[in-house]
Amino acid sequence: MFDFTDRDLDKAHDIRIIGVPFDGTVSFRPGARFGSSAIRDASDGVETWSPVLDADLEQVKYADAGDLELPMGHVETVMAIIREAVDECLNDGVIPFLLGGEHLVSLPAIEAVSEKYPDLVVIQLDAHADQREDYLGVKLSHACVMRRVAEVIGDTQIKQIGIRSGTRAEYEIMRHHNTLTTFRDADLDALLDWVDGRPVYLTVDLDVFDPACFPGTGTPEPGGIDWWTFQRFIKTMADCDLVGLDVVELAPQLDTSGCSSVLAAKAVREMLLIASA
Ligand code: MN
Ligand code: MN
Repeated sequence: MFDFTDRDLDKAHDIRIIGVPFDGTVSFRPGARFGSSAIRDASDGVETWSPVLDADLEQVKYADAGDLELPMGHVETVMAIIREAVDECLNDGVIPFLLGGEHLVSLPAIEAVSEKYPDLVVIQLDAHADQREDYLGVKLSHACVMRRVAEVIGDTQIKQIGIRSGTRAEYEIMRHHNTLTTFRDADLDALLDWVDGRPVYLTVDLDVFDPACFPGTGTPEPGGIDWWTFQRFIKTMADCDLVGLDVVELAPQLDTSGCSSVLAAKAVREMLLIASA
């Protein structure tokens, strides 16, 4: 069970959780705005102990800032509010950990973190490339978030894993810049070599999971990973210097069983554990 009830930001903490209940640009089914609160609720049923990582959340110094208050219809203002919250984390010397919300919320966070860490690399788990130049003429969309990130940090600073959907143009961009990799053991080892000690922002779009185990998302995509594949990835990443994290695109009401929210909460636990290690 997570101690998500403790909102005391004055206590000493290394990681700060920020709920970002925003789904203003989603392209298909809405509902990600309810993701952060569903993760907190579902965490009640999750153990603090991780058998795979051999670590306990009770030893992690984190605090929960609660959910940001966001004007859903005004994307630029939402971006500015997120940016301010993440800047505050960096000024306080703590790692920001965003709970979405949709994937666009990663953009202002990565912008802020990359200013502090100029050699920042971003690792994206996702079913979708998110490399569109625009979506229906709109550049600030969850379908374009990685293109916007690439404009900030450069295409060569990005690795994408689990991608199985995109346009021909998106695949040309990704192949040209060699951003794509896989969850095969050899590729995970190569990913770690590529990181080479640089600071990492890890963004997990939960639709990377197969809809069979994670149906609670706005844009489900067949052919995704299972829990144990994610767990292998997490164990590999434990050796990285994580300086920012997010978990996005849980739309809890699209899974009436509640299993998607539990999976998301468990993913957050594992990510908190490797971020604090
Ligand atoms: Mn995405
Ligand atoms: Mn996605």
